[in-house]
Amino acid sequence: MTSTKLLPSLYWIDGKFSNLYLCIDDDGLTLIDSGKPNSLKLVEEAVVEAGYALSDVKRIIITHADWDHAGSAAAIQSATGGTVFAGEKTAVYFQTRTKPKHLPRLFELISAPFSQYTAVETVTIIKDGDILPVLGGLRAIPTPGHTDDHLSFYSPTTGVLFAGDALDTRNDNLNRTPARITADEEAANQSAITLLSLTPVIIACGHGTPLQGHDNSVIMKLLYLLSILGRVDKFS
Ligand SMILES: [Zn+2]
Repeated sequence: MTSTKLLPSLYWIDGKFSNLYLCIDDDGLTLIDSGKPNSLKLVEEAVVEAGYALSDVKRIIITHADWDHAGSAAAIQSATGGTVFAGEKTAVYFQTRTKPKHLPRLFELISAPFSQYTAVETVTIIKDGDILPVLGGLRAIPTPGHTDDHLSFYSPTTGVLFAGDALDTRNDNLNRTPARITADEEAANQSAITLLSLTPVIIACGHGTPLQGHDNSVIMKLLYLLSILGRVDKFS
């Protein structure tokens, strides 16, 4: 199987570097993030496995303009006819063929040739607090820090949080975005606190296995470290 069912209306697609999520609603399907370049085939497999066709994908929602999240948005948009939704800053990155700066300079230089992707031409802008018709109402939450354009999405009906890169579950731990790839530490702390305070039932991160069936103490521990100690990198 290409995907893992987290809920009857939610599938996790392991993009082998970053995660994608497929949401099922009455009016069609929604992808959260598009994966790295050349992920269209993977998406098609997951959509077919769920019992649908590519043309059922109505929305492609992008958390931020990094290649591993936005890399296949253009290809999926043209294959499905779906609408790409992204924040205002993400749309500017697409339009200007630039990307958010948040990696160490050397890594940026080394990775540049491998992190190119076709940017999306037509984007529907999501604003703070917008609610998309996904999973009973999916609220956009600005969560800058990892990058300045980063958005997360929360569905109060299901308790599902799409955290993008604001949180991750690498190394079987719930973490804030690692300092080495974070543009703004203070903003990243605040964004993580905002998301953790929702006490989500499922934390669907951009990297690492989605967190589900967890004890809330996992959330409280990170919330404590972030709010009391300010920085979490030293402690994780
Ligand atoms: Zn990223």
